[in-house]
Amino acid sequence: MTGEETDTATSVDVAADAMDGLSVHACERCPRLVESRSQIVNGTGPADADLLFLGEAPGANEDEQGEPFVGRSGSILDDALRDAGLARADVRITNCVRCRPPENRDPTTEELANCRGYLERELDLVDPELVVTLGKVPSEHLLDRSVAVTKEAGDVVDVRLGERSYRAVVSVHPAATLYDGSQRQTFFETIARAADTAGVGDGDGGQANLGDF
Ligand code: SF4
Repeated sequence: MTGEETDTATSVDVAADAMDGLSVHACERCPRLVESRSQIVNGTGPADADLLFLGEAPGANEDEQGEPFVGRSGSILDDALRDAGLARADVRITNCVRCRPPENRDPTTEELANCRGYLERELDLVDPELVVTLGKVPSEHLLDRSVAVTKEAGDVVDVRLGERSYRAVVSVHPAATLYDGSQRQTFFETIARAADTAGVGDGDGGQANLGDF
């Protein structure tokens, strides 16, 4: 078998062999990330969550704590969830790649492909009503096309992955709200819309707190 054929073997079936339920406990497919990580950061939240949030990759806080979306971005996500009548414990949160890239660089195309089978396996098992892609890299990875995140934020789209199809909502990354105040309302409204679309949360679209912006 050639190296090329080995790469294309990344699939839900291959991932199933390497996963314990929804978690990966030993994987060395990405040599640079094996060097830079201190642990593999698996998804958190209910295994049957209706809402699944997809980020890019663990950062320093996530790598240290072993949980996706902690630190400032996680705190903003928690605020938006609360505004929509949800708690972190109600939703599934995972990343496109499970190991921290060095100096927080974007994951490479090869690293995204290496980890793809684990993501597809997690989506297959959780079977969420809706996937929310947090930022450009996860949006383009899931939708398999160029995405103008700010322009498309809040749009509900259908995504086909192999034999499965999912509904997804594109969102700006929570960290974007730190650098551009106008993104905060976009982010909160997107999360509220996602909760409504998935049939979870308080169903008021987050309107009660929009005056806080
Ligand atoms: S990012 Fe994914 S594929 Fe790469 S080493 Fe980590 S768990 Fe394995």
